[in-house]
Amino acid sequence: MAINVFVPKFHTTEILEEMRICLDKGWTGLGFKTVEFEDKWKQYTDLSNAHFLASNTVGLHLAIHVLKKKFGWKDGDEIITTPLTFVSTNHAILYENLKPVFADIDEYLCLDPKSVESKITSKTKAVMFVGIGGNPGRYLDIVELCKKKGLKLILDAAHMSGTKINGKQVGAEADVAIFSFQAVKNLPTSDSGMICFADSELDKEARVVAWMGINKDTYQRFNNAKGSYKWKYNVDEIGFKYHGNSIAASIGIVELKYLEEGNVRRREITALYDSLLKDVKGVEIIKVAPGCVSSRHLYQICVKHRDEIMQHFYDNEIYPGVHYTDNTEYPMYAHGKGTCPNSHKKSDELITLPIHLNLTNDDCKKVVEVLKEGIKKYSN
Ligand SMILES: *Cc1c(COP(=O)(O)O)cnc(C)c1O
Repeated sequence: MAINVFVPKFHTTEILEEMRICLDKGWTGLGFKTVEFEDKWKQYTDLSNAHFLASNTVGLHLAIHVLKKKFGWKDGDEIITTPLTFVSTNHAILYENLKPVFADIDEYLCLDPKSVESKITSKTKAVMFVGIGGNPGRYLDIVELCKKKGLKLILDAAHMSGTKINGKQVGAEADVAIFSFQAVKNLPTSDSGMICFADSELDKEARVVAWMGINKDTYQRFNNAKGSYKWKYNVDEIGFKYHGNSIAASIGIVELKYLEEGNVRRREITALYDSLLKDVKGVEIIKVAPGCVSSRHLYQICVKHRDEIMQHFYDNEIYPGVHYTDNTEYPMYAHGKGTCPNSHKKSDELITLPIHLNLTNDDCKKVVEVLKEGIKKYSN
């Protein structure tokens, strides 16, 4: 059987029961289960605000939109960001007519604080940090740097559900953290995300923007009228339809119960890979930064002859991934080409080995055997 990089595992019976409650009640949209999921996410993470959305991507846009308006950023102002990420991260900056300025990555594949500092100009307003694979890298140094320089910090925490620093879920240190519950992430739904502002005022403003700029959401109107639907509302600004719905929230509520045990299994898998690869020449293992517990969304290695080795995997029905192609290789981000040598180099060497909750220890051993063959075949 083929071994894929990601295969989501759902607790189907429980999810269907949770969804049935929505269907029987006749409420599948914003409110009801979305409110319940937000409360449960706040309990789990200890973050002070949580707002359930249709995806992480819309959350990244919403974060920048709200910060831009609040702090009077101008078109052309700059956000320092990483080239080694999913394009959502950087598209979100462009949606608001701001400029992504690329800083280089460190050995954890996360933004290098020294490089970030060297890219700060009078137009810099914020830093966008991505915890690749759940790895916080030098995030705490970036938190300090942002404080010192008066910059906002946006955390793309798409991979970081369950990542802990000093025993606490990561996210509270940033002005805003955005999680992804897309189908292959650690907490899978269909598509959805959670935006967590440090400032409750911004959370409130974002809720209006995420619901078309309408000042009362449908659930408030329904509930405040004791079962009779109130039709009156006001619209003061252009908003977006970015909120999450109760069907996706139902999946999230169930899967949140299994997030911790899933992450424990992920750490077992990565420890097994570590031990199997420890003496293999020609493999660089991307390590997790010390002092944290990673969600281990990814297990990444670097090899020479990456493309040929990927083909060798395919020939053996193993389908690893690559996270990511350096975004400056895409024409729309070409302005950053040549400015981040470490990222440009890693982009040609990275492989994400299969990691998911249906993977067996024997699968991991097979993956490593095929990797070794591939390395042997192409090393000279
Ligand atoms: C998956 C992902 C996103 C986008 O998340 P969606 O919920 O699919 O919109 C953004 N950034 C990173 C790093 C991701 O891996």
